[in-house]
Amino acid sequence: MTSITGDAPLPVVRDLDSLRAVVAAWRAQGLRIGLVPTMGALHAGHTSLVALAKARCDRVIATVFVNPTQFGPNEDFASYPRDEAADAAKLADAGADLMYAPQLESMYPAGFSTVVSVAGVTDGLCGATRPGHFAGVTTVVTKLLNRVQPDLAVFGEKDYQQLLTLKRLAADLDLPVEVVGGPIVREADGLAMSSRNAYLTAGERAVAPELNRTLRRAAADMLGGAEVDDCLDWARGELLARGFAGVDYVELRDAETLEPLAELGDRPARLLAAAHLGRARLLDNIAVDP
Ligand code: AMP
Repeated sequence: MTSITGDAPLPVVRDLDSLRAVVAAWRAQGLRIGLVPTMGALHAGHTSLVALAKARCDRVIATVFVNPTQFGPNEDFASYPRDEAADAAKLADAGADLMYAPQLESMYPAGFSTVVSVAGVTDGLCGATRPGHFAGVTTVVTKLLNRVQPDLAVFGEKDYQQLLTLKRLAADLDLPVEVVGGPIVREADGLAMSSRNAYLTAGERAVAPELNRTLRRAAADMLGGAEVDDCLDWARGELLARGFAGVDYVELRDAETLEPLAELGDRPARLLAAAHLGRARLLDNIAVDP
């Protein structure tokens, strides 16, 4: 039975049979399909990925699913912002053709026992501070890719380690999908857009852009010849001095392999950080190209 909700600004599908029926009809027409997985509470960062997918595909499916397995026991799964009606409106505006919002029981029925995990690129950074997080992400994304079977899947550079992990997943498991990254969309003051920015109080919101400013300053100093370690130490101290409650990491990594870098070489590097501000854990990263 095909069940597509008709009164939303774009078709919303919740069950797998309906999803497969829509995808099969598009495939029969020879259409190219793009996928943008999200956890909802959508903002311009998410819609930029939909636009990117739409520029390269005939049809774009955005998924909205708050995936419990990528949250730690003391993290914000229960309170993660959810606003499906607003999400559907934003997706329609951005040019998506379908919203797929699967039910929790359909994704993880009783007896579910499989974990897909990627080694190497998930070491350190968010892999160290959020144990189990990337296994949750790679498992749910594998399921979404198998359900939709898109030609292209788009993920944001905001979650840079996640993007590289998913590229690795697709390459290692021969998944017939091109994994593409989209640039970070920022507020005017440099703060990377994030659904979790909604957790910030007005005072914290005023401090939040310091994360990006600090990364930019540290990157400029490195490119100017300062020792990488000194710049990283400075950045950690600066964030605490500016009002961040804790710094999970500020690290320089190879932009493609994510191997730690003690100095700038002639390959592209990435400066990545995660820091706590009030209830929010904010991520950011920037290119440091020699
Ligand atoms: P989320 O809903 O936070 O799981 O994010 C869904 C997708 O949107 C992921 O691929 C994120 O990397 C991406 N994303 C989130 N925020 C941004 C942003 N500010 N700019 C670009 N992509 C983003």
